[in-house]
Formats: sequence, C-alpha cells, structure tokens
Amino acid sequence: MRPFNESLLPLIQKAKQEWECTADALSAIVCLLSPEGIVLRANRVVEQWGLGCVSAVIGKTAHAVLHPDCSDLHCGVAAGLAAALPRLQEGNAQEFEYFAAQSNQTLQFVLRPMRSGDETADSVRDSRSVLLVNDVSALRQAQQGLIEGNANLEVRVRQRTRELADSNRELRNEVARRQQAERELLASRNNLALLSEQLIQAQEQERRRIALELHDSVGQSLSAIKYTLERAIIMVQRPELGSPENALTSAVQRIHETADGIRAISMNLRPPVLDNLGAASATVWFCREFAATYPHLTILTDISAENSEIPARIATHLFRCVQELLNNVAKHAAANTVWVTLQRDAAGLRLEIRDDGQGMAGEATDHSKWLGSGIRNLRERAEMTGGKFSLTSRTGSGAVAEIRWPLVTKETCEGKVE
Ligand SMILES: [Zn+2]
Repeated sequence: MRPFNESLLPLIQKAKQEWECTADALSAIVCLLSPEGIVLRANRVVEQWGLGCVSAVIGKTAHAVLHPDCSDLHCGVAAGLAAALPRLQEGNAQEFEYFAAQSNQTLQFVLRPMRSGDETADSVRDSRSVLLVNDVSALRQAQQGLIEGNANLEVRVRQRTRELADSNRELRNEVARRQQAERELLASRNNLALLSEQLIQAQEQERRRIALELHDSVGQSLSAIKYTLERAIIMVQRPELGSPENALTSAVQRIHETADGIRAISMNLRPPVLDNLGAASATVWFCREFAATYPHLTILTDISAENSEIPARIATHLFRCVQELLNNVAKHAAANTVWVTLQRDAAGLRLEIRDDGQGMAGEATDHSKWLGSGIRNLRERAEMTGGKFSLTSRTGSGAVAEIRWPLVTKETCEGKVE
C-alpha cells in the first residue's frame, strides 16, 4: 500500500465538492442507500422537494424520507422499495413507478447496485445502491394525453368511416333509384309509343269501316235512286211506257231509307250530344237511338252517373265502349233484352252491359270473330284510360261486360267534354 500523500487532500476536497455540486444540479433525487435501504447520502434536491435538509434525511429509510408519517400498509413506494432492494443483489438495476392520485404526481424510482471503483478487480460488488427519484408527472401526463388523443382520433376515424360508408350506401341507393326511374320512364315511353300506334291503327280501322259503310249503304242507295229517277224521266218523256208514279214513289222510299242509313252511320260517329251535354247524356241518347234502330230489342237503362262525375279524359272512350258493346249485342248476341248500367260510386265509374242472348259459344261464329278484335279494342280503351275490362258469359245465358275506372274522389269534369 502506497503512503497517503497529505498534499493531495485539497485536491480531493475540491473534487468531492465539484461532484456534490454536479449531483445537486440534477433534477432527480439521488441517494446512496445502505443494503437495508437507509439513506447514507442525498443530494440537495430533497431540500428543493421540501423533504427536509440533507442532514435530516440521512439515517432514515427512503420511504420515510418521501412519505413522512405514512401509515398506508399497502403504500406503493414502501412495497416497491421492499421488492427492489433484495433483487439488486443479482446485479441488475430495478425500476418502478408510483402514482399519487391525491397530488396527480408520478414518481419514477430507479435503483442501481454500486460497483467497486477498483477497475482491476472482477466487478467486485458493493452491497450499497444508488436510488434516483424522478418526477415524471409531466411526461406521463403527456403520454396519457397522447394515448387519449390517439383513442379520440381512432373514434373519429371510425365515426367518419361509418359516415362515409352511410353516404356511400345512400349514393348507391340513389343511383339505383334513378336507374329504376330511367327504366320506368323508358318503359312508359315505349308504352306511350305503342298506345299511339294502337290509336292510329284504331283510327285507320274506323275510317275504313266508315268508308265501307258509306260505299255499301249510301253509295249503293244513291245509285239505285239515280237509276230510278232516270227511268222516271224517260217515262215522263215517253208516256207509252206507263206512269212514272211507281218509280217516283220507289225513289222517295229509297231516299227515306238512305236518310235512315246516314242517321245510323252518324250515330256511330261522334254525336254532338257528347260535346254539348257530356258522356252520361250521350249514353242516354245513344240507348234511345239504339232502341229506335233495333225495335226488336228491349233496352233497360240505369244511368245514375252525372255528366259532371265523368272525367273528360274518359268520356269519349266510355261512349265508344257503349257503342261497341251495344252494336255487338244487336248484331251477334241474338238477345231479347239488354241492360245498360252506368254508375259513379266511391271507388270510381262502372259501366255494365248485360244481355240475355246466346252467350259466347265456342264454335266459330260471327260472335267469336267479334270477340277477337272487339274485346281487344275494349280492353285497350279501358287500359288507355286507367280502367279494367272484364267479360263473363255462359253459353245460352247471355253475357256481362263490365268496365271499371278507379277514380279519386275529386276527379270530375265540368259537365262538358273538351
Ligand atoms: Zn408511503
């Protein structure tokens, strides 16, 4: 052992002072602990923390320094230190944290085993240790804030994602709705085109029928009258051929018949009463004319609907249906009686034409020919105006044709058909 050099003492004192100043400049409490956890040395941070002066803490346990008068049997600082101290013997640093809820303060405790300063020896262990106590409240609060901020952010991201998904779904639904509406529009355009075509066809058919009727009845009658009158002129010029009286009487008779024919044709065209009075009055008028034209048929009417209760859009179609059905009964049904009902109730407008004729036989008769085009016409007219046509019949017990137009309560017309 080398002799102690007295002249080095001031230098050692100076080094010791510098080292103490360094330890005092730290923000953490630094203590040297005995193996039992008694404070052997402490820096001045204990004074800054208000735990008493350095000389007063020496000789106390670290727990007693930090928690004077602590009577908590489960105190975290006491438990942490008691657990850490024996483990230091294994040579590893020990660390724990203690949160004081009352002061909202988090303290970090780090215990390190002391090592011998002799570098030549094989890490000779000192049984003393160094305790560092750091106030990490601000750090932990910042970390906690960060965790909460992250959690909030995640919640907001999830919420926003949900909102985006919702609006995406709504957009998809909207797109689907519009596509459906477009399809419906296209379908209704197609229907409209089909209906216009059917209307044009019906119109052409009607014109052909009128032309044929004019040619067959009026044209032929006029030819016959012309021939009879020419014969009468010759008889006037050549008295030896006899008196022209019979020929003239026959011509007058034919003129009467032609006038009746023209009346029948015009009855089947649009009657002025339809425009002047309305569809209910036109139906009454047509039934009366029909009875006069076909005296062998008894017509019983129950027309309780008012003109003002029949919408303008239906009026003409209603009249055409009455014409079509009655003409069919007269031509094909072999009936004695026909009942015509036109009623307006809460559900809408109802037209019923019933007869006691032969009904619809299965065999190929004129009647069954009518059924093809006639029913199609009636069904088309009904559907064009939002109505529904039905026909029920039993062979030998007549037929019942019915058209129902569902109407909203307020849908009426002002009595006249525009
Ligand atoms: Zn305590």
